[in-house]
Amino acid sequence: MATSRLLSRLTLVTAQGALRVKRRLLRPLAVKRRTTTTQINMATSRLLSRLTLVTAQGALRVKRRLLRPLAVKRRTTTTQINMATSRLLSRLTLVTGGGSGIGRAVCQRLASEGASVVVADISEESSNETLRGLPGDLRGQVHMAAAVDVSSKESVKKLVTSIQTHYFQPPSVCVHAAGITQDDFLLSMEEEVFDRVVQVNLKGSFLVAQAVAQALVAAGATKGSIITVGSIVGKVGNLGQANYSASKAGVEGLTRTAAKELSRFGIRCNCVLPGFISTPMTDKIPDKVLSKIKSLVPLGRMGDPEEVADVCAFLASDDSRYVTGASIEVTGGLFIG
Ligand code: NAP
Repeated sequence: MATSRLLSRLTLVTAQGALRVKRRLLRPLAVKRRTTTTQINMATSRLLSRLTLVTAQGALRVKRRLLRPLAVKRRTTTTQINMATSRLLSRLTLVTGGGSGIGRAVCQRLASEGASVVVADISEESSNETLRGLPGDLRGQVHMAAAVDVSSKESVKKLVTSIQTHYFQPPSVCVHAAGITQDDFLLSMEEEVFDRVVQVNLKGSFLVAQAVAQALVAAGATKGSIITVGSIVGKVGNLGQANYSASKAGVEGLTRTAAKELSRFGIRCNCVLPGFISTPMTDKIPDKVLSKIKSLVPLGRMGDPEEVADVCAFLASDDSRYVTGASIEVTGGLFIG
């Protein structure tokens, strides 16, 4: 986290025009003298990746030399260094499904990178539980929890309006992680079960993306990032999940179309496709089935929600500024070509 604090300090220093101090801080980072604040942030991030590499190679001496100017403690681990980026300072973000699993991990990750997070879930109690665990010590962070039913247009509209009332701006980042499964075989699946899963997973993605995009365009925002959560199952199908796989395939198509329509407003839209991730959703899968799935994953294990959150944070940040309409698989290699 120490590096994040330094990033804000660099930004502050630049704002005050204290060029001499800035140069001293920048020299060890090998950054050009006439660097702008954005470039400084980017350059520092690049250094962070280099630090990670160096650490991986165990070259502790070099790492220490690089860390000294950043005033990071000597015993900083690779994970801490990775966590230290502050790519999302001053960003207002909305995370649906934020009360559990992947959504909760996304809230934590975005907050750790400096974002203000609106945690939204069907259950206000679980939203509040996530809220209580969020770090909030970076510049200007104010988080809030809310209840929303993403399958209801009225509820989604109410949520976006309440965010604008609270923060006087719409969220510039939205991660739509709310979703459900209601499995059954095609031959016996009830119509209502099919409809409910499509309503929450697909229609919910449409309603949330539309409401956020409308608010951003109306506010004259110059950029935004909308991230939907599909599933690898939307690409390859899965026994007992006709409704779920259809809804998730739809989410990908919706996201690509949104990307085409919204790019002229500076709004990027991307879809994350998790494989099998350990969350309350997959807790329902019998152990026998899970061990079979694991045996098919080239990386040999289930994913962690934090590993999906890492990709969402990338898509939320300017590091992905030239990425739109993409579907990124986070599967440990499951079902690669
Ligand atoms: P999770 O732990 O069950 O989290 C989903 C959250 O969404 C829950 O808090 C759930 O509340 C909430 N939710 C359900 N219906 C909602 C609605 N109508 N409005 C607002 N919130 C609602 O599941 P997860 O594994 O983190 O899944 C997150 C997303 O990743 C989902 O879209 C899922 O389809 C997708 N995904 C997950 C995996 C995986 O392996 N876990 C794989 C591929 C894709 P309740 O608990 O009360 O229902």
